Amino acid sequence: MAALTTTDCPDLRLIARGKVRDLYDVDDKTLLFVATDRISAFDVVMKNGIPGKGKILTQISDFWFNKLHSVVPHHLITCKVAEMPASVQKYASQIEGRAMLVKKLKILPVEAIVRGYISGSAWVEYTKKGTMCDMPLPKGLKESEEFPEAVFTPSTKAEMGEHDENINPDKLPALIGDKLAKQLEEVALKLYTTARNYAREKGIIIADTKFEFGVDENDNLVLADEVLTPDSSRFWPADRYKVGQGQPSYDKQYLRDYLTSINFDKATGVELPAAVIDNTMQKYIEAFTILTGKTPVL
Ligand code: ATP
Ligand code: MG
Repeated sequence: MAALTTTDCPDLRLIARGKVRDLYDVDDKTLLFVATDRISAFDVVMKNGIPGKGKILTQISDFWFNKLHSVVPHHLITCKVAEMPASVQKYASQIEGRAMLVKKLKILPVEAIVRGYISGSAWVEYTKKGTMCDMPLPKGLKESEEFPEAVFTPSTKAEMGEHDENINPDKLPALIGDKLAKQLEEVALKLYTTARNYAREKGIIIADTKFEFGVDENDNLVLADEVLTPDSSRFWPADRYKVGQGQPSYDKQYLRDYLTSINFDKATGVELPAAVIDNTMQKYIEAFTILTGKTPVL
């Protein structure tokens, strides 16, 4: 199987290409997300893709949307191209298995981040200031330690090319209103804890994650974007978890180790060798199988 690193659907209007996904406008109510096989590390997209990765990402999101549906409605209409409009079906051979038809929403201008373990930018802030998103934390926390309770740490959604900014949850009502702010926090925490508990039993620690939400025409809160994939979350192998240090990333560790070993130059980008591609893909397949108990359709 060759990697699909960019989609080509000329009769659909391309809205954007993210680091991984291509986004098309289908009609005034729906959008099409296509997860390509692009992969990024250290914020750089690699020159070649990981064949099939986009299909696994789409199937992971699909799995979680269904599993978490009782917590909050979601935007996914279907992942089956045969159920999509004819204008999309003509690209079936290109996008089958990696596409999501979703309901168009008004996206809230915040990222609903939930952290169960202290890591990444939260750990950096804590080591410098003893806080996380300007909220004081107990002294003596160790890197990657689990919080007694998961914490909601929203950030603003930055414009293209800029970095999202963590905000104190107290600032949320000013951005989206009291009612939505309260609901967003409750729902995000419930989604995360449900998923964390489920995954931990299977052997994957979901250390933290980022959800995006929108509101529909009736002002209902709806879960959008991708959910609980290795791209939007930190997945750690539970059997290698050790408090007091950084954890290997479930999916991208081979890639990061490789890039570090070759002193990779961010400016020129990299063509990945076959072994790194294979090992990375095996990790995505493993994560999918562990979470869902199924073999991915590739
Ligand atoms: P990155 O690759 O870093 O994530 P990005 O966020 O710009 O970059 P994508 O995530 O691929 O790229 O872009 C998807 C965009 O679609 C995001 O701006 C997201 O908020 C938006 N979006 C997600 N779901 C919906 C929806 N149901 N309706 C409207 N917009 C949506
Ligand atoms: Mg995004």
